Amino acid sequence: MNLLEFEGKALLRESGIRVPPGQRVTSPDQLQTMHYPVVIKSQVPIGGRGKSGGIYVADTVDDAKEAYERIRKLRIKGYLPSAILAEEAVQIRQELYFSLSVDRRNKMELLLFSEAGGMDIEKVDKDRIRAINIDPILGLQDYQLAQILLHATIEEKAKVGLKQVIRGLYGAFKARKLELLEINPLVLDSAGEWVCVDAKIVVDDNLCHKNSQEAAKAPSSFEEATHGLGVNGVELEGDIALITSGAGAGLATIDELKSHGGTVRAFVDLGSLVYDKDKMMEVIELVYDLKPKVVLFNFYFQVARCDTLSEAIVNSLRDIPVVVRTRGKYEEEAREMLVQHGCYATSEFNDAVLKTIEMLSGERTAHGNLG
Ligand code: GDP
Ligand code: MN
Repeated sequence: MNLLEFEGKALLRESGIRVPPGQRVTSPDQLQTMHYPVVIKSQVPIGGRGKSGGIYVADTVDDAKEAYERIRKLRIKGYLPSAILAEEAVQIRQELYFSLSVDRRNKMELLLFSEAGGMDIEKVDKDRIRAINIDPILGLQDYQLAQILLHATIEEKAKVGLKQVIRGLYGAFKARKLELLEINPLVLDSAGEWVCVDAKIVVDDNLCHKNSQEAAKAPSSFEEATHGLGVNGVELEGDIALITSGAGAGLATIDELKSHGGTVRAFVDLGSLVYDKDKMMEVIELVYDLKPKVVLFNFYFQVARCDTLSEAIVNSLRDIPVVVRTRGKYEEEAREMLVQHGCYATSEFNDAVLKTIEMLSGERTAHGNLG
């Protein structure tokens, strides 16, 4: 299901992503109280409105009212508008193209980025488009973000902001299980902020049967919450919750657990959160809320400290068995603390995996005895 621009922007706004202030207009009187200049935008389920006269920047109320009446009746590629959107005009400093889509054939997500913003992407030269495949389990990685922006001509300060915006867009894309999220243009405004000036969003039809748009909009609260904390959380249906630092460690651990018959309830890559004990604890709490049967932490730190991690683990313990594999600075201190608090701690990867599987079967037996 394709969302109209104003619906798509409402979804983005809910996800904390900046869109221009504005609203759907059903009577010209509503144009009176806005901050000018104002953009009047035809809401048709198709692009290229700019070129067809469906987008108009008005400097005064009278000008806007006139445009409203004109655009209301303007047919674009056969479509009359389903609605009219009026927004405060953005002062454009730079326009980018950005999109995320699901590539079903390759079971990957595709990110497209171009500095040729505001143009039809089909007409942009291939060498001006950056395409990145994202593993849906691992999520968008920091190195991929860096790669996208490596040669982009964007001020350093704006680049930092852009990375945050892209993280936010990716978070919304995942949490809402979108098929397509296209922002063209993604605009750097005169205040140096990134704003989504246009939005094309396609929601998975399977999620919106019985014409329930709400169903499609309901994200996994776990995934949304982890994205809100700046990490990639994935919710699945198995038994083991896995928390790692780094994508490679995550994949390797999932494979190993699976080869021993384990199934994954949730996977979180803590990424750079490993330096922030409070944030880590928030993530760990979210994982416990999913009521996994065992939680496995697998950490091989180069720079971060194992004892920061173990403090976070110990401070958030609940009545769920915990297995921790740590390697790196202060690993022995970390393991000692963990063991004192009833966790199973080891430096060996295989040991951790096997212990996790063992605890899982123990858990099952216990349930069996009760049942
Ligand atoms: P589309 O043509 O259907 O893709 O509609 P868009 O919403 O992308 O608008 C087309 C173009 O109009 C954009 O690429 C911008 O250049 C311009 N435009 C849209 N909104 C604004 C705005 O708020 N301020 C300015 N200055 N230009 C805008
Ligand atoms: Mn557009």
